[in-house]
Amino acid sequence: MDLYEHQARQLFADYGIAVPDAEVVDRPRAAEEAAVRLGGRVVVKAQVKTGGRGKAGGVKLAADPAAAALTARQILGMDIKGHRVRTVMIAQPVDIEAEFYVGYVLDRAAGTFLAIASAEGGMDIEEVAATRPEAVARITIDPAEGVTPAKAAEIAEAASLPAAVAPVLQSLWQVLTQEDALLVEVNPLVRTTDGRILALDGKVTLDDNARFRQSRWGADTDDPHAEPLEAAAAAKGLNYVKLDGEVGIIGNGAGLVMSTLDVVAGCGARPANFLDIGGGASARVMADGLTVILSDPAVKSVFVNVFGGITACDAVADGIVQALETVHLTKPLVVRLDGNNAARGRAILDDRAHPLVQQLTTMDGAAHRASQLALGGH
Ligand code: GDP
Ligand code: MN
Repeated sequence: MDLYEHQARQLFADYGIAVPDAEVVDRPRAAEEAAVRLGGRVVVKAQVKTGGRGKAGGVKLAADPAAAALTARQILGMDIKGHRVRTVMIAQPVDIEAEFYVGYVLDRAAGTFLAIASAEGGMDIEEVAATRPEAVARITIDPAEGVTPAKAAEIAEAASLPAAVAPVLQSLWQVLTQEDALLVEVNPLVRTTDGRILALDGKVTLDDNARFRQSRWGADTDDPHAEPLEAAAAAKGLNYVKLDGEVGIIGNGAGLVMSTLDVVAGCGARPANFLDIGGGASARVMADGLTVILSDPAVKSVFVNVFGGITACDAVADGIVQALETVHLTKPLVVRLDGNNAARGRAILDDRAHPLVQQLTTMDGAAHRASQLALGGH
Protein backbone atom coordinates (compact mmCIF):
# COMPACT_ATOMS: atom_id res chain seq x y z
CA MET A 1 0.00 0.00 0.00
CA ASP A 2 1.19 3.49 -0.82
CA LEU A 3 0.83 6.16 1.84
CA TYR A 4 -0.42 9.66 1.19
CA GLU A 5 2.15 12.44 1.29
CA HIS A 6 0.79 13.67 4.62
CA GLN A 7 1.15 10.19 6.13
CA ALA A 8 4.71 9.89 4.82
CA ARG A 9 5.41 13.35 6.20
CA GLN A 10 4.14 12.24 9.63
CA LEU A 11 6.42 9.19 9.53
CA PHE A 12 9.42 11.29 8.58
CA ALA A 13 8.70 13.63 11.49
CA ASP A 14 8.39 10.63 13.86
CA TYR A 15 11.89 9.56 12.86
CA GLY A 16 13.42 13.01 13.28
CA ILE A 17 13.45 14.21 9.68
CA ALA A 18 12.53 17.91 9.50
CA VAL A 19 9.32 18.68 7.57
CA PRO A 20 7.36 21.92 7.11
CA ASP A 21 4.42 22.52 9.44
CA ALA A 22 1.21 21.42 7.76
CA GLU A 23 -2.45 20.49 8.16
CA VAL A 24 -4.76 18.31 6.07
CA VAL A 25 -8.22 19.63 5.17
CA ASP A 26 -11.12 18.67 2.92
CA ARG A 27 -12.92 22.02 2.52
CA PRO A 28 -11.85 25.46 1.23
CA ARG A 29 -13.05 27.09 4.45
CA ALA A 30 -10.85 24.77 6.53
CA ALA A 31 -7.96 25.54 4.19
CA GLU A 32 -8.38 29.22 4.96
CA GLU A 33 -8.39 28.60 8.72
CA ALA A 34 -5.33 26.35 8.46
CA ALA A 35 -3.53 29.06 6.47
CA VAL A 36 -4.24 31.55 9.26
CA ARG A 37 -2.68 29.21 11.81
CA LEU A 38 0.31 28.51 9.55
CA GLY A 39 1.18 32.18 9.07
CA GLY A 40 -0.87 33.26 6.02
CA ARG A 41 1.27 32.35 3.03
CA VAL A 42 1.00 28.61 2.33
CA VAL A 43 1.45 25.86 -0.23
CA VAL A 44 -1.75 23.95 -1.10
CA LYS A 45 -0.99 20.35 -2.11
CA ALA A 46 -3.36 17.72 -3.53
CA GLN A 47 -3.29 14.50 -1.49
CA VAL A 48 -3.37 11.71 -4.05
CA LYS A 49 -1.33 8.58 -4.28
CA THR A 50 0.48 9.47 -7.45
CA GLY A 51 3.48 11.58 -8.39
CA GLY A 52 3.61 14.52 -10.77
CA ARG A 53 1.08 16.54 -8.82
CA GLY A 54 3.11 19.71 -9.35
CA LYS A 55 3.00 19.39 -13.14
CA ALA A 56 -0.71 18.56 -13.02
CA GLY A 57 -1.51 21.77 -11.14
CA GLY A 58 -2.00 20.01 -7.82
CA VAL A 59 0.67 21.97 -5.91
CA LYS A 60 0.16 25.73 -5.68
CA LEU A 61 1.41 28.62 -3.62
CA ALA A 62 -1.23 30.86 -1.99
CA ALA A 63 -0.26 34.33 -0.82
CA ASP A 64 -2.78 34.61 2.02
CA PRO A 65 -5.65 32.71 3.71
CA ALA A 66 -8.27 33.94 1.23
CA ALA A 67 -6.10 32.77 -1.67
CA ALA A 68 -5.60 29.45 0.15
CA ALA A 69 -9.38 28.95 0.20
CA LEU A 70 -9.65 29.73 -3.53
CA THR A 71 -6.73 27.46 -4.40
CA ALA A 72 -8.12 24.64 -2.27
CA ARG A 73 -11.45 25.06 -4.07
CA GLN A 74 -9.64 24.60 -7.41
CA ILE A 75 -7.61 21.58 -6.32
CA LEU A 76 -10.26 19.68 -4.34
CA GLY A 77 -12.19 17.42 -6.69
CA MET A 78 -9.49 17.63 -9.37
CA ASP A 79 -8.61 14.43 -11.19
CA ILE A 80 -4.89 13.69 -11.23
CA LYS A 81 -3.98 10.65 -13.32
CA GLY A 82 -7.24 8.94 -12.38
CA HIS A 83 -7.02 9.90 -8.70
CA ARG A 84 -9.78 12.13 -7.34
CA VAL A 85 -8.47 14.76 -4.91
CA ARG A 86 -10.44 14.48 -1.65
CA THR A 87 -8.08 16.29 0.70
CA VAL A 88 -5.37 18.91 0.42
CA MET A 89 -2.39 19.52 2.65
CA ILE A 90 -1.83 23.13 3.66
CA ALA A 91 1.88 23.56 4.33
CA GLN A 92 4.19 26.35 5.39
CA PRO A 93 6.18 27.42 2.33
CA VAL A 94 9.94 27.30 2.39
CA ASP A 95 12.52 29.21 0.41
CA ILE A 96 14.36 26.59 -1.58
CA GLU A 97 18.04 26.90 -2.42
CA ALA A 98 18.54 23.39 -3.79
CA GLU A 99 16.33 20.34 -4.43
CA PHE A 100 17.71 16.81 -3.93
CA TYR A 101 16.34 13.34 -4.46
CA VAL A 102 16.94 10.57 -1.91
CA GLY A 103 15.30 7.21 -1.53
CA TYR A 104 15.65 3.53 -0.77
CA VAL A 105 14.05 0.79 -2.75
CA LEU A 106 13.98 -2.98 -2.52
CA ASP A 107 15.99 -4.37 -5.43
CA ARG A 108 14.32 -7.75 -5.90
CA ALA A 109 16.65 -8.87 -8.68
CA ALA A 110 19.75 -8.23 -6.57
CA GLY A 111 18.08 -9.45 -3.39
CA THR A 112 19.02 -6.32 -1.49
CA PHE A 113 18.20 -2.66 -0.96
CA LEU A 114 19.39 0.17 -3.11
CA ALA A 115 19.96 3.78 -2.11
CA ILE A 116 19.15 6.17 -4.95
CA ALA A 117 20.26 9.77 -4.59
CA SER A 118 20.74 12.81 -6.79
CA ALA A 119 21.71 16.44 -6.32
CA GLU A 120 19.23 17.27 -9.09
CA GLY A 121 15.94 16.43 -7.41
CA GLY A 122 12.57 18.05 -8.00
CA MET A 123 9.94 17.64 -10.64
CA ASP A 124 12.29 16.61 -13.46
CA ILE A 125 14.04 13.71 -11.73
CA GLU A 126 12.64 11.16 -14.22
CA GLU A 127 14.15 13.13 -17.07
CA VAL A 128 17.48 13.45 -15.26
CA ALA A 129 17.51 9.69 -14.66
CA ALA A 130 16.70 8.99 -18.31
CA THR A 131 19.04 11.47 -19.99
CA ARG A 132 21.93 11.69 -17.52
CA PRO A 133 22.02 8.51 -15.44
CA GLU A 134 25.44 9.52 -14.09
CA ALA A 135 23.68 12.29 -12.11
CA VAL A 136 21.80 9.64 -10.12
CA ALA A 137 23.88 7.60 -7.66
CA ARG A 138 22.87 4.03 -6.90
CA ILE A 139 24.49 2.40 -3.90
CA THR A 140 23.80 -1.11 -2.66
CA ILE A 141 22.91 -1.41 1.02
CA ASP A 142 23.80 -4.55 2.96
CA PRO A 143 20.49 -5.09 4.80
CA ALA A 144 22.24 -6.69 7.78
CA GLU A 145 24.53 -3.70 8.20
CA GLY A 146 22.01 -1.00 7.30
CA VAL A 147 22.90 2.63 6.75
CA THR A 148 25.75 3.38 9.12
CA PRO A 149 27.15 6.92 9.41
CA ALA A 150 29.91 5.83 7.03
CA LYS A 151 27.39 4.46 4.53
CA ALA A 152 25.28 7.62 4.73
CA ALA A 153 28.40 9.71 4.05
CA GLU A 154 29.24 7.43 1.11
CA ILE A 155 25.77 7.89 -0.43
CA ALA A 156 25.89 11.67 0.05
CA GLU A 157 29.31 11.89 -1.53
CA ALA A 158 28.42 9.63 -4.47
CA ALA A 159 25.49 11.93 -5.29
CA SER A 160 27.37 15.18 -4.55
CA LEU A 161 24.94 15.99 -1.75
CA PRO A 162 25.98 18.22 1.18
CA ALA A 163 27.25 16.30 4.22
CA ALA A 164 24.30 17.69 6.21
CA VAL A 165 22.06 15.23 4.33
CA ALA A 166 23.75 12.19 5.90
CA PRO A 167 21.66 12.12 9.13
CA VAL A 168 18.48 12.27 7.01
CA LEU A 169 19.72 9.26 5.04
CA GLN A 170 20.13 7.34 8.29
CA SER A 171 16.70 8.30 9.60
CA LEU A 172 15.10 7.44 6.28
CA TRP A 173 16.64 3.97 6.50
CA GLN A 174 15.00 3.62 9.91
CA VAL A 175 11.64 4.52 8.36
CA LEU A 176 12.14 1.84 5.70
CA THR A 177 13.11 -0.94 8.07
CA GLN A 178 11.01 -0.14 11.15
CA GLU A 179 7.83 0.56 9.18
CA ASP A 180 7.98 -2.48 6.85
CA ALA A 181 8.38 -0.31 3.76
CA LEU A 182 9.46 -1.53 0.34
CA LEU A 183 10.18 1.98 -0.85
CA VAL A 184 10.78 5.37 0.74
CA GLU A 185 11.44 8.40 -1.37
CA VAL A 186 11.93 12.09 -0.64
CA ASN A 187 11.66 14.34 -3.68
CA PRO A 188 12.48 17.04 -3.11
CA LEU A 189 14.66 16.96 -0.04
CA VAL A 190 15.63 20.62 0.04
CA ARG A 191 18.26 22.91 1.45
CA THR A 192 16.55 26.14 2.37
CA THR A 193 18.11 29.54 1.89
CA ASP A 194 18.71 29.62 5.65
CA GLY A 195 20.62 26.33 5.48
CA ARG A 196 18.08 23.81 6.83
CA ILE A 197 17.51 20.37 5.28
CA LEU A 198 13.77 19.62 4.92
CA ALA A 199 11.71 16.83 3.38
CA LEU A 200 9.17 18.62 1.17
CA ASP A 201 7.48 15.59 -0.37
CA GLY A 202 7.39 11.92 0.53
CA LYS A 203 6.42 8.63 -0.93
CA VAL A 204 6.28 5.48 1.19
CA THR A 205 5.17 2.07 -0.05
CA LEU A 206 4.43 -0.39 2.73
CA ASP A 207 4.83 -4.13 2.39
CA ASP A 208 1.29 -5.55 2.36
CA ASN A 209 2.60 -8.81 3.83
CA ALA A 210 3.03 -6.87 7.07
CA ARG A 211 -0.47 -5.35 6.96
CA PHE A 212 -1.37 -7.11 10.22
CA ARG A 213 0.93 -4.78 12.13
CA GLN A 214 0.12 -1.60 10.19
CA SER A 215 -3.30 -0.96 11.68
CA ARG A 216 -2.47 2.72 12.16
CA TRP A 217 -2.92 3.37 8.44
CA GLY A 218 -6.47 2.02 8.08
CA ALA A 219 -8.00 1.01 4.76
CA ASP A 220 -6.62 2.09 1.42
CA THR A 221 -9.22 4.50 0.11
CA ASP A 222 -7.41 5.77 -2.96
CA ASP A 223 -6.40 2.84 -5.10
CA PRO A 224 -7.83 3.43 -8.61
CA HIS A 225 -6.80 -0.08 -9.60
CA ALA A 226 -8.67 -1.69 -6.76
CA GLU A 227 -11.30 -4.02 -8.16
CA PRO A 228 -14.68 -3.09 -6.58
CA LEU A 229 -15.94 -6.68 -6.83
CA GLU A 230 -12.79 -7.97 -5.10
CA ALA A 231 -13.49 -5.55 -2.27
CA ALA A 232 -17.16 -6.62 -2.12
CA ALA A 233 -16.13 -10.28 -2.02
CA ALA A 234 -13.48 -9.65 0.64
CA ALA A 235 -16.12 -7.91 2.75
CA LYS A 236 -18.15 -11.13 2.60
CA GLY A 237 -15.09 -13.19 3.49
CA LEU A 238 -14.85 -14.65 -0.02
CA ASN A 239 -11.71 -15.26 -1.98
CA TYR A 240 -12.45 -13.70 -5.39
CA VAL A 241 -9.99 -12.81 -8.13
CA LYS A 242 -10.85 -10.93 -11.32
CA LEU A 243 -9.35 -12.27 -14.56
CA ASP A 244 -9.74 -11.30 -18.25
CA GLY A 245 -11.92 -13.97 -19.82
CA GLU A 246 -15.61 -14.85 -20.07
CA VAL A 247 -16.28 -17.91 -17.90
CA GLY A 248 -17.11 -17.20 -14.25
CA ILE A 249 -15.72 -19.91 -12.01
CA ILE A 250 -16.81 -21.01 -8.58
CA GLY A 251 -15.17 -23.91 -6.83
CA ASN A 252 -14.39 -25.16 -3.38
CA GLY A 253 -10.77 -25.36 -2.32
CA ALA A 254 -7.76 -23.70 -3.96
CA GLY A 255 -6.55 -26.88 -5.66
CA LEU A 256 -9.87 -27.64 -7.35
CA VAL A 257 -10.33 -24.01 -8.40
CA MET A 258 -6.84 -23.88 -9.93
CA SER A 259 -7.41 -27.06 -11.94
CA THR A 260 -10.84 -25.77 -13.02
CA LEU A 261 -9.12 -22.70 -14.49
CA ASP A 262 -6.76 -24.97 -16.39
CA VAL A 263 -9.50 -27.22 -17.71
CA VAL A 264 -11.62 -24.25 -18.88
CA ALA A 265 -8.55 -22.75 -20.59
CA GLY A 266 -7.96 -26.16 -22.19
CA CYS A 267 -11.48 -25.97 -23.66
CA GLY A 268 -10.61 -22.77 -25.50
CA ALA A 269 -12.43 -20.27 -23.28
CA ARG A 270 -10.82 -18.03 -20.67
CA PRO A 271 -11.76 -17.69 -17.02
CA ALA A 272 -13.39 -14.31 -16.26
CA ASN A 273 -12.67 -14.63 -12.57
CA PHE A 274 -12.60 -17.22 -9.89
CA LEU A 275 -14.11 -17.58 -6.52
CA ASP A 276 -13.06 -20.11 -3.95
CA ILE A 277 -15.96 -20.76 -1.60
CA GLY A 278 -13.64 -22.71 0.66
CA GLY A 279 -13.70 -26.10 2.24
CA GLY A 280 -16.59 -25.58 4.65
CA ALA A 281 -18.82 -23.40 2.52
CA SER A 282 -22.45 -22.97 3.54
CA ALA A 283 -25.52 -22.26 1.44
CA ARG A 284 -25.17 -18.58 2.39
CA VAL A 285 -21.58 -18.50 1.07
CA MET A 286 -22.69 -20.10 -2.19
CA ALA A 287 -25.41 -17.48 -2.60
CA ASP A 288 -22.97 -14.64 -1.86
CA GLY A 289 -20.42 -16.10 -4.25
CA LEU A 290 -22.88 -16.43 -7.11
CA THR A 291 -24.05 -12.87 -6.55
CA VAL A 292 -20.47 -11.59 -6.83
CA ILE A 293 -19.65 -13.66 -9.95
CA LEU A 294 -22.87 -12.65 -11.72
CA SER A 295 -22.25 -8.96 -11.12
CA ASP A 296 -19.16 -9.13 -13.33
CA PRO A 297 -20.40 -7.96 -16.77
CA ALA A 298 -17.61 -9.86 -18.55
CA VAL A 299 -19.09 -13.16 -17.42
CA LYS A 300 -20.91 -15.00 -20.25
CA SER A 301 -21.42 -18.30 -18.45
CA VAL A 302 -20.75 -19.60 -14.96
CA PHE A 303 -19.17 -22.90 -14.08
CA VAL A 304 -19.79 -24.13 -10.53
CA ASN A 305 -17.42 -27.00 -9.88
CA VAL A 306 -17.79 -28.53 -6.43
CA PHE A 307 -16.40 -31.66 -4.95
CA GLY A 308 -18.39 -32.27 -1.79
CA GLY A 309 -16.27 -33.04 1.23
CA ILE A 310 -16.90 -31.16 4.44
CA THR A 311 -19.32 -29.11 2.34
CA ALA A 312 -21.92 -31.58 1.22
CA CYS A 313 -23.29 -31.14 -2.31
CA ASP A 314 -26.87 -30.71 -1.07
CA ALA A 315 -25.76 -27.63 0.92
CA VAL A 316 -24.16 -26.23 -2.24
CA ALA A 317 -27.31 -26.98 -4.23
CA ASP A 318 -29.40 -25.26 -1.55
CA GLY A 319 -27.07 -22.27 -1.86
CA ILE A 320 -27.56 -22.14 -5.62
CA VAL A 321 -31.35 -22.34 -5.22
CA GLN A 322 -31.21 -19.62 -2.57
CA ALA A 323 -29.10 -17.43 -4.86
CA LEU A 324 -31.63 -17.91 -7.68
CA GLU A 325 -34.22 -16.31 -5.37
CA THR A 326 -32.21 -13.11 -4.99
CA VAL A 327 -30.27 -12.76 -8.25
CA HIS A 328 -31.99 -12.52 -11.57
CA LEU A 329 -30.06 -15.10 -13.57
CA THR A 330 -29.39 -13.89 -17.11
CA LYS A 331 -26.42 -16.11 -17.92
CA PRO A 332 -26.24 -19.89 -18.19
CA LEU A 333 -25.02 -21.74 -15.14
CA VAL A 334 -23.27 -25.06 -15.56
CA VAL A 335 -23.03 -27.10 -12.39
CA ARG A 336 -20.98 -30.17 -11.66
CA LEU A 337 -21.51 -31.70 -8.25
CA ASP A 338 -19.58 -34.71 -7.10
CA GLY A 339 -18.53 -36.27 -3.81
CA ASN A 340 -20.42 -36.08 -0.52
CA ASN A 341 -24.23 -36.15 -1.07
CA ALA A 342 -23.83 -35.54 -4.80
CA ALA A 343 -27.03 -37.41 -5.69
CA ARG A 344 -29.08 -35.37 -3.23
CA GLY A 345 -27.55 -32.12 -4.48
CA ARG A 346 -28.28 -32.95 -8.11
CA ALA A 347 -31.86 -33.83 -7.21
CA ILE A 348 -32.35 -30.44 -5.51
CA LEU A 349 -31.22 -28.63 -8.67
CA ASP A 350 -33.30 -30.89 -10.91
CA ASP A 351 -36.37 -30.08 -8.80
CA ARG A 352 -35.70 -26.36 -9.10
CA ALA A 353 -35.61 -26.82 -12.89
CA HIS A 354 -34.35 -23.36 -13.72
CA PRO A 355 -34.16 -22.98 -17.53
CA LEU A 356 -30.65 -21.47 -17.38
CA VAL A 357 -29.17 -24.07 -15.02
CA GLN A 358 -27.80 -27.30 -16.37
CA GLN A 359 -25.90 -30.09 -14.68
CA LEU A 360 -23.15 -32.34 -15.95
CA THR A 361 -21.57 -35.10 -13.97
CA THR A 362 -17.95 -34.76 -15.06
CA MET A 363 -15.57 -31.86 -14.67
CA ASP A 364 -14.38 -32.11 -18.29
CA GLY A 365 -17.92 -32.29 -19.65
CA ALA A 366 -19.07 -29.33 -17.59
CA ALA A 367 -16.00 -27.28 -18.50
CA HIS A 368 -16.64 -27.91 -22.19
CA ARG A 369 -20.29 -26.90 -21.87
CA ALA A 370 -19.51 -23.72 -19.91
CA SER A 371 -16.82 -22.79 -22.44
CA GLN A 372 -19.13 -23.40 -25.42
CA LEU A 373 -21.85 -21.28 -23.83
CA ALA A 374 -19.38 -18.47 -23.09
CA LEU A 375 -18.09 -18.50 -26.65
CA GLY A 376 -21.60 -18.24 -28.07
CA GLY A 377 -22.33 -21.86 -28.88
CA HIS A 378 -25.23 -23.96 -27.63
P1 GDP B 1 5.01 16.26 -6.90
O1 GDP B 1 4.97 17.08 -8.14
O2 GDP B 1 3.82 15.34 -6.79
O3 GDP B 1 6.29 15.51 -6.75
O4 GDP B 1 4.85 17.26 -5.65
P2 GDP B 1 5.96 17.98 -4.74
O5 GDP B 1 5.48 17.99 -3.37
O6 GDP B 1 7.31 17.38 -4.94
O7 GDP B 1 5.94 19.46 -5.26
C1 GDP B 1 6.37 19.79 -6.56
C2 GDP B 1 7.32 20.96 -6.52
O8 GDP B 1 6.69 22.05 -5.90
C3 GDP B 1 8.58 20.71 -5.70
O9 GDP B 1 9.58 20.07 -6.47
C4 GDP B 1 8.97 22.11 -5.33
O10 GDP B 1 9.77 22.69 -6.34
C5 GDP B 1 7.65 22.86 -5.26
N1 GDP B 1 7.29 23.07 -3.85
C6 GDP B 1 6.63 22.23 -3.03
N2 GDP B 1 6.54 22.77 -1.80
C7 GDP B 1 7.15 23.98 -1.85
C8 GDP B 1 7.41 25.03 -0.92
O11 GDP B 1 7.08 24.97 0.26
N3 GDP B 1 8.07 26.14 -1.38
C9 GDP B 1 8.48 26.25 -2.66
N4 GDP B 1 9.12 27.34 -3.03
N5 GDP B 1 8.27 25.29 -3.56
C10 GDP B 1 7.62 24.18 -3.17
MN1 MN C 1 7.73 15.34 -5.42
